[in-house]
Amino acid sequence: MATASAPTVFKNYIDGAWTAARGGKAIEDRNPANRDELIGMFPASTADDIRDAIASAQAAFKKWRLVPAPKRAEIMFRAAEILLERKEDYARDMTREMGKVLPETRGDVQEAIDMTYLMAGEGRRQFGHVAPSELPSKFAMAVRAPVGVAGMITPWNFPMAIPAWKVMPALVCGNTIVLKPAEDTPLSTYNLVQALEEAGVPAGVLNVVFGDGPQAGAPILDDPAVDLISFTGSTEVGRIVSQACAPSFKRCHLEMGGKNIIVVMDDANLDLAVDGAIWGGFGTTGQRCTAASRVAVHKKVYHEFVERFAAQAKKLKVGDGLDPANEMGPCVNEQQLNTVMKYVAIGKEEGAKLATGGHRLETGSHARGWFHEPTVFVDCDPKMRICQEEIFGPVVAIIPFGSFNEAIDIANGVTYGLSASIYTRDVNNAFRAQRDLETGIVYVNAPTIGAETHLPFGGTKNTGNGHREAGLAALDFYSEWKTVYVDYSDRLQRAQIDNAE
Ligand code: NAD
Repeated sequence: MATASAPTVFKNYIDGAWTAARGGKAIEDRNPANRDELIGMFPASTADDIRDAIASAQAAFKKWRLVPAPKRAEIMFRAAEILLERKEDYARDMTREMGKVLPETRGDVQEAIDMTYLMAGEGRRQFGHVAPSELPSKFAMAVRAPVGVAGMITPWNFPMAIPAWKVMPALVCGNTIVLKPAEDTPLSTYNLVQALEEAGVPAGVLNVVFGDGPQAGAPILDDPAVDLISFTGSTEVGRIVSQACAPSFKRCHLEMGGKNIIVVMDDANLDLAVDGAIWGGFGTTGQRCTAASRVAVHKKVYHEFVERFAAQAKKLKVGDGLDPANEMGPCVNEQQLNTVMKYVAIGKEEGAKLATGGHRLETGSHARGWFHEPTVFVDCDPKMRICQEEIFGPVVAIIPFGSFNEAIDIANGVTYGLSASIYTRDVNNAFRAQRDLETGIVYVNAPTIGAETHLPFGGTKNTGNGHREAGLAALDFYSEWKTVYVDYSDRLQRAQIDNAE
């Protein structure tokens, strides 16, 4: 584990050994709450390193695919125990490199633990299908088979949970892995991999290469020895990933951006709705794919909601996530902060009214970090860019509406489809909303964030391409259905022909 005073030089993990990048170059891992703190130096890997990692995964697949799934799962159970034991240290590391407040980074590590236990359990439960054959003395079944070498590219906002969401189902299904985590948060993935190594994952089964997208990520996409790609990140990069996978028909799972909404009906419990919208909008500094960056409020309760919401947003304490007094951390880096400031300017130009916030925080304890005020725009038109485009920062746009149908149209009137929520006490509206909202995830009387690992996670439209992360749905991506017929009649039997006589 890195210490504050002595930045450590970290290495890639290839074929069971910690290995320096061939090019010898490194990327700094810095604390976004205090950019003077250098957490460590991580390899700036290039195509040669990626080739080594892929070759190692390819060789290891020959044996790993034959290890019984319950045995693979035993290793994963041990990894979960190690993660649990080190939860606090890993959470602190994560806050230092990513910025979100400690309770949230504890949650991130816990999510990795949950996913590891969940998928370890699946080691004894990879059920297939057995069906009666249409012919006598013939047995028919479908079983799960591993796919091969899995390439994974992950973002910085859930730097341990998201890699775990991909690694654990891939491992239990018998695949081997080349993982390229985000350049802003390598330490959290390093910690995850170390736990898996100590738990006994065999050499070559899990390989990790650090580095940036074009240098270290792109070569994974193009290599014919990689059988599937799982990507989480922006829609812009997701398109590059999808196009790179298309020529060879590579199985490809994309989890991308969002423009999520909370709908507050006139019969909602307003205290609950305000609390939910604050957590949904400003949790993780708004840097969640499921962040509630839009809140649509019924005109009958609009003024009351806006007043309470803006007042609560204004009160949020912003600062270093390691200080328990702080409720919201910094943006992850300078570029993300600049994006937030750009959208605040766009919102003003578009005529949205600023109710609170709107500025960077850069004096006193904020001077060395990438902090921004919690920002609330009110009286927004749903067609404004701040209501259409993903900002990925602490900016919430509030939109008034007059009827349930109008709210659903506003909710669905974006190109993304990850998460949506409705606050209402009317059971009919609650059920109509879950039917009509065009998102992969719907919440009733809860904010847009809060996914649990044993249920499918993912989105529609420009958020996803039809696959799902987590839950049993993940097994479908990381395994191939193999249908097996055993004919023990000792004669030629022709399906659809002999049984029709
Ligand atoms: P990003 O797209 O910039 O980067 C994601 C990953 O892709 C990183 O590891 C990066 O190095 C890599 N990458 C960049 N260019 C590449 C290229 N040309 N080839 C291969 N790899 C490349 O996203 P980010 O800034 O890390 O994360 C924020 C985005 O992720 C937001 O849009 C957010 O909504 C999305 N996200 C989505 C989900 C989800 O489940 N839907 C979850 C978390 C984050």
